[in-house]
Order: sequence, then structure tokens, then C-alpha cells
Amino acid sequence: MSKLSKRVSLIKESPTFAIINKAALMKKNGQNIIVLAAGEPDFDTPEHIKNAAIEAIKNGKTKYTPSSGTNELKQAIVDKFKRENNLNYSLDEVIASNGGKHSIYNALQAIINPDDEVIIPAPYWVSYPDMVLLAGGKPICIPCGIEDDFKLSAEKLSQAITNKTRAIFINSPSNPTGMLYTESELLAIAKVLKNYPDTFIISDDLYEHLIFEKQQFKNLANIMPELQDRIIVINGVSKAYSMTGWRIGYTACNNKPLIKAMETIQSQSTSNPCSISQSAAVAALNGGIACVEPMLKEFIYRHEYAVKRINNIPGLHCLKAQGAFYVFFDCSVAIDKLYNSKKITEKTDLAFTNFLLENYLVAGVPGSAFGLENFMRISFATSMEELKSGLDRIEQALSNI
Ligand code: GLU
Repeated sequence: MSKLSKRVSLIKESPTFAIINKAALMKKNGQNIIVLAAGEPDFDTPEHIKNAAIEAIKNGKTKYTPSSGTNELKQAIVDKFKRENNLNYSLDEVIASNGGKHSIYNALQAIINPDDEVIIPAPYWVSYPDMVLLAGGKPICIPCGIEDDFKLSAEKLSQAITNKTRAIFINSPSNPTGMLYTESELLAIAKVLKNYPDTFIISDDLYEHLIFEKQQFKNLANIMPELQDRIIVINGVSKAYSMTGWRIGYTACNNKPLIKAMETIQSQSTSNPCSISQSAAVAALNGGIACVEPMLKEFIYRHEYAVKRINNIPGLHCLKAQGAFYVFFDCSVAIDKLYNSKKITEKTDLAFTNFLLENYLVAGVPGSAFGLENFMRISFATSMEELKSGLDRIEQALSNI
């Protein structure tokens, strides 16, 4: 019997993908499942982006590209940061990868040494801790509950940060909570980080364009430019341009050796991101964000609707989000009720989500997957019809207990 690596035994399958796969299988078997699990926009990729990919195929852009991406894409990334974020990078300070997840993975592989600590405010996006473990590091998850608006305060950061802290994640707007850090909160965090020159800041900005109130998005690099050589900005085209399957993410940092290291890692693993997707991403970034507007408008509408519905269901409670496309709700009261009426045998959010999936055919993700128990995440990156039916089913599930 062959043994697997110790490394792989440290991690689990991505819980979001595990649920997405399970729900897809149930659907294939003919069950009428409503899937509110995946953070994947239901809109089609905009036409001009698809056409750019078709042109790329026709024009023979079907070969290897430089590992870090084509010069055309890197220029589009540099221009995007200048135009949309007022951040300056050169071509060798950016790298394109196979999705935002891959960008984070490469960044961690490039900076983590054995037992280096990485601070992760919880709730967090499911893959951060496992990617840190795969890189040999130690995730230090800091609970930031509903009473903190799910955000890390400078005070909590000061208590957790040490000379062993190699990196910290900041994800705003956040997956799974949709919370957005204010400029003053970011400034307070930046002031703490200023005193730890060996700590990198991984700014996961994937939901940058999905902010509900009209306001200029800011990340730590805008707030404290002097930290720029250690602020690793991660972004991608998946969420804003509805391009999840194309797999294009990118990283920027005013730190050439770091970007070069990520390129080296990439050259020894995936070679380069898909050449056709790169052409599509050029069209997405150069085309600007006008095509995101109608999608954002729809997300704003669905958010209002979902928050209202959740807060009207006895046993559930959620805050309004400021961005992204999730509702992260407290289901502790519902869990208690279901447990007391013997509908579930364990008092956990996993039992709660399984109960909804198996009995009411509606799929969401348990809060524990994001590092906060007794919560559940549903995504409203799905049609209004599906969202309504899914919420009807959740309401029905909890109506007779
Ligand atoms: N980021 C999305 C989510 O949280 C897609 C799944 C994943 O990559 O984990 O649902």
C-alpha cells in the first residue's frame, strides 16, 4: 500500500467545492436541488470578453506564454492598478496566475518558511488556512465575531502579532461576510504592521468591484504607501467579470524578488496561465468596469432581498453586508431548536446545513468551514428565482419547529 505525503494529510478538500460537487451529483441524480453554495456569478461572461478569446484562438494564440503571463496582460494589469486604484507597478512587479486562489498559493509558497505564522482573521475564506499549511506555515486564526462586524481590529492584531508573523490576510469586502474595512480601520491596522517589517500583508481584493454603496475602494497600499514592498495585492477577473471558469488571477507587489520567486514557482508547476484566457482577461481589464455595473445592480437588489428574508425567519439573524455576494447568518437559535426537537442529532452548523440539504434540497456552506461555528453562508450569485425558492425552503424547514 503506497503512502501519501505528510503534507497532504494536513489539509482537507475545499469545503466549498465539496458541497458544490455533492449538490451537482444530487442534481445529476434528478433531485431538484437549489444551490446557494457556490460563490460564482450566474451571469454570462460579457460578450466583448468572449469575442477576445475567440479571436485569440483564431489568431493562433494557443501556445505557451511567458510563465508570468503575456506582456499584453501584464500591461493591462499595470494599467488597471494605475487607473482604478492609483497604484504604480512596473511589468516585473505583476504576475498572472490560474485564478486568485493560485495567486495566493504561489505567494505563500514564495514567502513561508517552516513554522512561520500567518494571521488569518476568522471568518476567513475557506482556503487560506489549508494553503498556509501546505506551504509549511502555521495558521493563526483570530476570531472576529458578529459583535466585531466580523473584522479584525488593530487591538486584536497587536495582541496576536509577533516576530514570527510572516504574513497576515486582509480580505475586504470579505468572503464569506461581505464586510468592508473602513479607511480608519485600515489605517489603525497599518500602524501596527509598520512595526513588523518582516510581515507581509496579503490583500485579497477579489470583491473590489462588488461594493454596494458608491465609494472608492481602498486597500492597505492606498492607506500606507510606505508598506508597499510587503503588500501583496491579489485580484482576478473571476468575480467582477463573471469569469470563474477562465481561471485568471493576478498579483502585484513593489517587490521584484517576490514576483520573480512566484514566477519561478509557476514555471515549475503550471508553466503559464491558459493563453486564451489571458487574451480574454486583457479584454476584461482594458474594457473597464462598465460591464460590471448591471451585475452589481442586480447583486445589490438580491442582497436587500436576502437579508430581509433571513431576518424574517425565526431562529436566523444576519447583518447587512457592504459588498461581495453572500449572506452570512447566525443560525445558533435554529440549531438549538432543531436539536431539541430531535430533527438533527448534533448541535452543529454542519448538521444544520446537511439537514437543509438532505430534507429541503437547499445547499449552503456551514460557518465552521470559514472558521466560525453556528453560522451558515448562502450565496446570492444565483438567479432571483433560485434565491427565492431557496429561501422559501429554508423558511419552510424552520417553520414547524
Ligand atoms: N470562492 C468561491 C466561494 O467561496 C468559489 C469556491 C472556492 O474557490 O472555494 O464559493
